[in-house]
Amino acid sequence: MIATVKGTRDILPPESFVWNRVEAVAREVFHSFGYGEIRTPLMEPTELFTRGIGEDTDIVNKEMYTFPDKKGRSLTLRPEGTAPVARAYISNNMQTLPHPLRLYYIGPMFRYERPQKGRYRQFFQIGAEILGPEEPAADVEMFSLLVDFLNRLEFTDLAVGLNSVGCEACRPGYRAALQAVLQEHKGELCVDCVRRIDTNPLRVLDCKEAGCQPVKKLLPSIGGHLCETCSAHLRFVEEGLNALKIRFELNDRLVRGLDYYTRTVFEVVSGRLGAQNAICGGGRYDRLISDLGGPKVPGIGFAIGQDRLIEILPESFKAKVKPGLDYFIVPVSPNELLPAFELAAKLREQGRSAGVALDGKGLKKGLKFAAATGAVSALILGEEEIKNGEVVVKNLATGEQVKKKIDEL
Ligand SMILES: [Zn+2]
Ligand SMILES: [Zn+2]
Repeated sequence: MIATVKGTRDILPPESFVWNRVEAVAREVFHSFGYGEIRTPLMEPTELFTRGIGEDTDIVNKEMYTFPDKKGRSLTLRPEGTAPVARAYISNNMQTLPHPLRLYYIGPMFRYERPQKGRYRQFFQIGAEILGPEEPAADVEMFSLLVDFLNRLEFTDLAVGLNSVGCEACRPGYRAALQAVLQEHKGELCVDCVRRIDTNPLRVLDCKEAGCQPVKKLLPSIGGHLCETCSAHLRFVEEGLNALKIRFELNDRLVRGLDYYTRTVFEVVSGRLGAQNAICGGGRYDRLISDLGGPKVPGIGFAIGQDRLIEILPESFKAKVKPGLDYFIVPVSPNELLPAFELAAKLREQGRSAGVALDGKGLKKGLKFAAATGAVSALILGEEEIKNGEVVVKNLATGEQVKKKIDEL
């Protein structure tokens, strides 16, 4: 037997019906806000991620699926969606399009992580990006879009964690303040954090190692270091969230695992998963496109982990996803098989879903199979029924049976 690659899995019906429904809701909501879908390749030049995400991040250091192609070019399976969108913006000269540019994507990402519950090496993300505006109004729109989507999935226990990681003007001062404290406590830090003192001290705030936790408590918070523009930006976003009645909490320890964020960073946690498990993260990335060699175009976006989202999907939403057919037609004998196909075609033309028992092995087996498909009703078609233009409708939940004219279905 050939197994799936470690950390990957097959998603089968009926579960895939839930995935389809979630994606359909995402598209409906995104389209209602004027976002258009962007589909970027699953593989990109490795350099896109080393330059875009940052050299000293977990993703780039440990988690990328990187390999040479037959010509020796280094390729990487996309570990996230924003850097490819930024690359596509530049490659397709999208600055000539009307702005703000509102884009979304749905698809698989790849990270070589330790597989655990709800975490896969091929995982799926639903994300959106708004490109162009520097103004915090874009941040507020992003939250509005995100919350609208999650509300439609009937989540009621979500909370947004919000922070600002500053800008080019104020972050260097904060970095220096962090470095000063970290240098004093170098001996207590894990190897990764010791390296981060020079490369990326903000990432220490994100370290999960037990030994680093006491040092983390000593670190200054960014709040006191934000410049006037960054503070005003954050205040506007807070006011916007309040106006939209979105529950949020300021969390001055929140940094995201990617280097490209500036100012607003956020995550959405569910009470069901607990604080360690964000189902969505995002932030503003005003320098990403220019860092990749494009024009100076700010952006903000989010990505939702679809695997975890589906795992914690409210039962009330899942209950409405009906994978079963409206009708499953059971021909009593092989003579009724072709009329059964005709009837099924007619029903589908009317927008109903219909299947046919294909084996012609009679009523009992056919009904058993109909029930197993999860269909709402079985339609029994025998010689007499065909003669009279009728069909026996059996409600598969109650067992109730009535004869009906085919035209009355
Ligand atoms: Zn600033
Ligand atoms: Zn550490």
